[in-house]
Amino acid sequence: MKNIAVFCGSSRGVDPEYSSQAKKLGQLLAQRNITLVFGGSKVGLMEDLSDSALQAGGKVIGVMPRLLYDKGIGHPGLSEMIVVETMHERKLRMNELCDGIIALPGGFGTLDECFEMITWAQLGIHLKPVALLNVKGFYDPLAEMIKHMTTQGFLKEIHRDMLIISPCLEQILHKMEDYTAPTEGKWIR
Ligand code: AMP
Repeated sequence: MKNIAVFCGSSRGVDPEYSSQAKKLGQLLAQRNITLVFGGSKVGLMEDLSDSALQAGGKVIGVMPRLLYDKGIGHPGLSEMIVVETMHERKLRMNELCDGIIALPGGFGTLDECFEMITWAQLGIHLKPVALLNVKGFYDPLAEMIKHMTTQGFLKEIHRDMLIISPCLEQILHKMEDYTAPTEGKWIR
């Protein structure tokens, strides 16, 4: 895996462990020579993640819509900053640039990005792994909801199982390396 896109909170959350894990991920990616692709901001977990990757000598690419970039919250020290016109274009560009996706804890923005990527995976638009880092059980309620969608007949098990959920970064990276996309596409009518 050469490039990983990471989605995460533009806030830091209340538990310092969120920040610690964002920093650990930045470091791990740099140590493994994996380029970090992220939202480009110097705020919240995004700042912790990108700063730690840069400090560890990693390559970091930010992708920001002009709307946010013009507010002056772009990270000034990245290896590369790509400014796009819309939020939609940003997701497309981040998808083009990466071989896999990890979401750390976050809010609406993080969930939106992560679910778009897993939806595209379900439709076979891309074949990349999508993972949630379950820091201190942050994603437990979402995992419950995903189970519920499956038992209620809205989500096939084979598609549910595409989403990697783990509290351990090393395990996530290992599972992403091993990932093979399911061959069964979603039935559309
Ligand atoms: P949220 O989880 O709602 O904090 O949103 C975080 C995600 O949405 C990030 O992965 C970003 O891609 C995007 N996002 C939200 N706020 C910002 C911001 N201030 N600067 C850059 N991207 C942002």
